[in-house]
Amino acid sequence: MAYEVVVVGGGFGGLTAAALLAARGVSVCLLEKESRAGGCAAGFEKFDYSFETTASLYASWGAGEIHGRVFAELPVAPPEVHLLSKPYVVRLPDHTEVALTSNTEQFEESLRAAFPECSEMAVNFYRELAPVAEALRRVAARVPDLLTASKFKRLKAVAPEARIASRVYAAMNETAAQHLSQTSMRFRRFIDAQLQIFGQRGSEDCAYLYAALALMIPRRALYEISGGAQALASKLVESIRKSGGVVRFDTPVLRLSYDQSGHARGVDLLSGEFVEATRAIVSNLTIWDTYGKLVGLNRTPADVRKRLNNLRGWGAYLLFLGMDEEAAQRLPADHVLALTDWQEGQAFDPETAQFMFAAAPARDTRAPTGKRAVTVSTFTEALQWFAFHEDETEHEAQDQAALEQCWQRMHSAMPELADGIEVIETATPRTFYEDTRRKLGMVGGIGQSLDVFGEHAISHRTTIPNLYLVGDTTFTGNGVASVTQSGLIVANEITRK
Ligand SMILES: Cc1cc2nc3c(=O)[nH]c(=O)nc-3n(C[C@H](O)[C@H](O)[C@H](O)COP(=O)(O)OP(=O)(O)OC[C@H]3O[C@@H](n4cnc5c(N)ncnc54)[C@H](O)[C@@H]3O)c2cc1C
Repeated sequence: MAYEVVVVGGGFGGLTAAALLAARGVSVCLLEKESRAGGCAAGFEKFDYSFETTASLYASWGAGEIHGRVFAELPVAPPEVHLLSKPYVVRLPDHTEVALTSNTEQFEESLRAAFPECSEMAVNFYRELAPVAEALRRVAARVPDLLTASKFKRLKAVAPEARIASRVYAAMNETAAQHLSQTSMRFRRFIDAQLQIFGQRGSEDCAYLYAALALMIPRRALYEISGGAQALASKLVESIRKSGGVVRFDTPVLRLSYDQSGHARGVDLLSGEFVEATRAIVSNLTIWDTYGKLVGLNRTPADVRKRLNNLRGWGAYLLFLGMDEEAAQRLPADHVLALTDWQEGQAFDPETAQFMFAAAPARDTRAPTGKRAVTVSTFTEALQWFAFHEDETEHEAQDQAALEQCWQRMHSAMPELADGIEVIETATPRTFYEDTRRKLGMVGGIGQSLDVFGEHAISHRTTIPNLYLVGDTTFTGNGVASVTQSGLIVANEITRK
C-alpha cells in the first residue's frame, strides 16, 4: 500500500501529527505495534480499576493553547477536561506542605510559612520566574517551531517581548541553581523535586529558562482529563479515521526501506510487508530508537551516534494501588509530590528522594465503589533493570524489592494512608520496554540540562531528508502538551512543503 505519509508509533506525538495531516487532506497511515494507542501514557484495567500510567496532570488545555489549537482543526470534539484548583501539594521530609496554586497571594503566603529561613528569597525566586515564563510561552505560541524557524520569524516572535528580552538572553546559559544561591537547602530541594518531575533534572543541571516554564506550569493551570490520557488517545484515533486516515494496530515496523539512491521510500513491517510513503515518514520512536532501529546505525552519522551516546533519560518504577475513599478524605490533595529525604550535602538523587502520588479524582474514581485508583511514580536508573538477569525470577525479585522499598517510603511520608490502600500492580522499566520498545524502557524524555536546551535542543528534522521525529525526546520535551506540540510542528512542516 502507498500513502503520502507513514507515521510510525501511536503515542501522542504520532497521533497528533497523523490527526492533523489527515484533517488537512493528506493521505496518512499510522502503524502502531500495540493493540491500542497512547504509548507510554496508555492506561490499563485490572480488577475493575482503570489506571493511568502518568501523574494525570495535563497542561495547556486553556483557550488558545496547544490542545485547543490542534482540536480546532480536527473533526472531533476534545475530551472533557477539568481545571484543578490545587494541582498538587509538595510534602517535605519534615512534613511541611506547600500547595501549588495559581492564587499568587496564597502561594506566597505558603512559601513564607514553609521556608521562614529564606522567605523573601523564595518569593523573589518565583516573582522573577513568572514574567520570564510568560514571555517564553507567548513566543512559543507565536512560533511553535522556534528551534528551526527562520531568523526573521524568530525575530518577529521575540520583538513584542523587548521589555524582558535582555533578561531572557542573559539567562540563556544559566542553570536554575545559579538563581537559587541565596535560598536555603530546604527550598532548593522543594524546587529540585518539581524540576525532576517536569524536566527530568534537579536544579544543579536544569536550564534556568526551562525551569521558568516548568515551575510556572502548576502555577498557571493544570487539568485532569476525564477517563485519563486514554480518552485523548481515543479521540485522536477517531479523528484520523474520520478524516480518511488509516490506523493499523498490532503492526510493528522493522525499519526504513531505502531506494538505490539512499532515499527513504517507506517502511518494512516485521511481517515482511512494505508500506510506501510518497511524501514523508514520521517517527514517534525515541531519538535512540529512530536511529538505532528505523534508520539503522550504519546510516547514522558518527556525530549523531556520539550525541545519542551522551543523552540520558530516566526509568520509572510505578505502583498501581486501590485506595479506600476514607483514606482519600484524609489526604491534603489528590496529588502529593513527596520529598522523602533532604539529601543534605550530596548531589540530588531523585531515585531515593521523591515520589509522585496521584489519585483519580472523586468525580472519576476509575475504581470499584468506595475506592479510588492511584498511581505512584518514582524514578529509577533504567539500565539496572536490564543487567544481570539470567532469568525472569531475578526481574521479579528486583520488582519485589523495589515494591517493598517504595511501599515503606510511601507510608512513612503519608502516614494518613494507614491500611486504607492496597497494591494492585507494578510497572518497571522492563514493563515500559515491553509495552513501547523505548530504549531501556526510559521514559519522560531527556533531562533538560543546558546541553539539550535552547539552540542545543533536538530538532524534529533528522539526517534523512524525508524522515521527521515527534515525541518527548525531541523539541519541546517531555509531557503530553509538549509532545502534542512536536506533532503540530511536523504536520506544519510536511504540509508547508
Ligand atoms: C511515570 C510517568 C508519569 C507521567 N506523567 C505525566 C503527566 O502527568 N502529564 C503529562 O503531560 N505527561 C506525563 N508523562 C509524560 C508523557 O506520558 C510522555 O511524555 C508522552 O506520553 C510521550 O509520548 P510520545 O509520543 O513521545 O511517545 P510514546 O508514548 O513512547 O509512544 C511511542 C509509540 O510508538 C510505538 N512503537 C514503538 N516502536 C514501534 C515500532 N517498531 N513499530 C510500531 N510502533 C512502535 C509504541 O508502542 C508507542 O505506542 C509521564 C510519563 C511517565 C513515564
